[in-house]
Amino acid sequence: MTHYDVVINGAGMAGAVLALGLADLRRPDGSPLAIAVIEAASPDFDAHPGFDARSIALAWHSRERLERLGLWPGMATLATPITGIQVSDRGHFGRVEMTATEYRVPALGYVVELAPVGQWLYRQMSGRPHLRLLCPARITDFTQHAGQVVLTLDDGSVCTTSLLVAADGNLSRVRQQLSLPGRRLDYGQSAVIANLESAEPHRGRAFERFTPGGPLALLPMSQGRSSLVWCAAPERARALMAMDDNAFLAALQQEFGYRLGRFTRAGQRHSYPLVLDELPRPWHHRVVLLGNAAHLLHPIAGQGFNLGLRDVAALVEHLAQALAGGQDLGSHEVLSAYGRERQPDQAGIVGLTTALALLFSSDHPALAAGRNLGLMAMAACPSFKSQLAWRAMGKR
Ligand SMILES: Cc1cc2nc3c(=O)[nH]c(=O)nc-3n(C[C@H](O)[C@H](O)[C@H](O)COP(=O)(O)OP(=O)(O)OC[C@H]3O[C@@H](n4cnc5c(N)ncnc54)[C@H](O)[C@@H]3O)c2cc1C
Repeated sequence: MTHYDVVINGAGMAGAVLALGLADLRRPDGSPLAIAVIEAASPDFDAHPGFDARSIALAWHSRERLERLGLWPGMATLATPITGIQVSDRGHFGRVEMTATEYRVPALGYVVELAPVGQWLYRQMSGRPHLRLLCPARITDFTQHAGQVVLTLDDGSVCTTSLLVAADGNLSRVRQQLSLPGRRLDYGQSAVIANLESAEPHRGRAFERFTPGGPLALLPMSQGRSSLVWCAAPERARALMAMDDNAFLAALQQEFGYRLGRFTRAGQRHSYPLVLDELPRPWHHRVVLLGNAAHLLHPIAGQGFNLGLRDVAALVEHLAQALAGGQDLGSHEVLSAYGRERQPDQAGIVGLTTALALLFSSDHPALAAGRNLGLMAMAACPSFKSQLAWRAMGKR
């Protein structure tokens, strides 16, 4: 029976980045960790649930974390810098603008398309000899013992591990078996995403626009394209999905205006129901839950993977310290130290994104006036605005 130091279930963004971060760790005698990555999807990037048509914004500080994990140089070639952010409220005056120059950074953040990043991450994983990528494969059962976790896979094979990491997304199989108590909130919205071409170049600008129907964000992409995330009530999202391209672009133009000139082309649309799903304590005897398996967030502030990456970076650090000190990687001491360190950030981001999602999706006149005043106050008060800017850049 093969024993792995760490088994990672799920190789989406969180699982793949963790696997590569751990692959570079060494024991005091110089030997690497034995790592297995179990992924249900076949490595066919036409239909990979972890690396679909989404583009995501990585905060400035996420770049620093990826640099420390040795992954940024490769990912940088696939990233578009965000050099300005404009936040506005449709039908109101409040507006805030931030630029990278103001904060003396090369970029406020970066936009990456998940599909090419996924292909790059899989190539990196395949090149690490002590990292076994088992895909397509699934865990059919696991049992937690005092000194290890015993796993049975769908091909009937059995293996053991000191630490099982569940990075298998929102419908985590591991989480279901553990029946951990979580908190779920349906935002009553869906996100419609599409890649857009516009008459005017984005010049590195990202836009977040609050509309009575829900927030709408445009992120700068390669080749002058922008990536749209449009959050709306489910009926409206269904209608947006059913429109032909011309009707869709006209509806978008009406909500967004002409900040990028006329929208000339929309790529294929996809839609995601938006729910908050969080585990207040995402670890349990020799098991850690990461990424969407631990917290599924509203995309309003682009925090999902940025938070997941901070979890990944902290876990790599705690496991590196455990290795150096000759500790058992799945021990209660190691996992509880990791959990205690990450809990305040996880709870803070869940609270922040939920508050923003509720505040900025409401067309109640008092709330609309309040947020508009907030945007105007931020535009007028540099220290307020810089707090928002550093937060957007992922500073803790
Ligand atoms: C519209 C939208 C916009 C977003 N924008 C941003 C943004 O701007 N910035 C940001 O930081 N985040 C953003 N996010 C969130 C971000 O996309 C996610 O946080 C991130 O991709 C999650 O990765 P993950 O690896 O945790 O989960 P997933 O992507 O769900 O990956 C889970 C993996 O596990 C595999 N799997 C599932 N079940 C099993 C099983 N039983 N056995 C083995 N493997 C299994 C799946 O095939 C998949 O590969 C956005 C999300 C949405 C929906």
